[in-house]
Amino acid sequence: AVPGESPGADGDLRLERVTKRFGSFTAVDDISLSIPQGSFFALLGASGCGKTTTLRMVSGLEDPTQGRIYLGQREVTDLKPYKRPVNTVFQNYALFPHLDIFENVAFGLRRRGVKDVRGQVEQMLELVELGHLARRKPAQLSGGQQQRVAVARALINQPQVLLLDEPLGALDLKLRRQMQIELKRIQTEVGLTFVHVTHDQEEAMTMADTIAVMNAGRIEQLGSPAQLYENPASTFVANFLGQSNLISGEVTGKDGDVITLDAQGRRLTLPVARARVEAGRIIAGVRPEKVSLALDESAIPAGHNVLTGGVVSDASFIGVSTQYLVKMPWGPEVGCEEMSVFEQNTGREIHRPGTPVLLHWHPAQTFGLDGS
Ligand code: ATP
Repeated sequence: AVPGESPGADGDLRLERVTKRFGSFTAVDDISLSIPQGSFFALLGASGCGKTTTLRMVSGLEDPTQGRIYLGQREVTDLKPYKRPVNTVFQNYALFPHLDIFENVAFGLRRRGVKDVRGQVEQMLELVELGHLARRKPAQLSGGQQQRVAVARALINQPQVLLLDEPLGALDLKLRRQMQIELKRIQTEVGLTFVHVTHDQEEAMTMADTIAVMNAGRIEQLGSPAQLYENPASTFVANFLGQSNLISGEVTGKDGDVITLDAQGRRLTLPVARARVEAGRIIAGVRPEKVSLALDESAIPAGHNVLTGGVVSDASFIGVSTQYLVKMPWGPEVGCEEMSVFEQNTGREIHRPGTPVLLHWHPAQTFGLDGS
């Protein structure tokens, strides 16, 4: 271990103040991460935010400009890629087209001179549920099946960490969903650390125990899917994971564990525990599924946050819910000029575009971000 620094538990993957520059451009900007052994970790962010570069530094395909990388007690920053107990699964599978599935999976073992590969290969094919296709060539498999071969081929090398770089990017939506569940099952079964790169927030939330949201080379927020969704730390995270209605205002008071704010003359309240600031400019946020519509005040429970002056601009019936857009009587300086509202369809009447409505929600459903 490095003097003065606390070593991680055995097997944890740690990045310490890692930076990567390409010329004058900083692709990864001073990130530190500790990924517990056996966890399913997702790096989530838009194209170009530095996810792949981060992964490539872990696998050794890219050298950090600054910072250190550890696996457990062992520093791997300067190790050659093939000496690291790390394997990567890529989006394009990179299977050998002339070898059958069995031989593709056996490849890593044969290269290391392992003589009797049958048992291990069969076990791996079993794990990814492809035992019956062992003698097919890659071209005779579907995209999802090929991706499972790629996972088996990586896992047979018994890495400590499996890196997955947009592995489902080439699959259609339905197959993607199936493979997300499948990869999660495999990860639970083998108990290895998986680090998964994706730009798809739903994919990250479906699969990962912990998500790091990346933006412009930095980690914007780290947490479980529920933590990120319920308590986003910034407007970037609030908008990147799911949809948010954001309304900016000014804190007008704090009474016990409740903060009061004023937004365009409308009084809103929220719990101190969910607010990132307690004075000055604040942005109140609420998720669309927490907001309800009412035609008059009498239908609104006492104590709810209420916004007046909205007019329905769109109503989309999508089966389980109706998704509304409600035009608000303010400009973009306040935040969303149109609020999103998802109401469960329980047989109630759908409000047509043009209908004046009141929006309301329980104050505890409000989060507060720094608005300065
Ligand atoms: P994507 O999802 O599109 O792959 P990403 O988040 O994985 O995006 P990276 O591939 O890590 O992003 O790239 C981060 C930034 O670094 C991008 O702006 C990219 O153009 C730049 N970059 C990556 N590799 C190099 C390189 N070898 N030379 C110069 N710039 C690079």
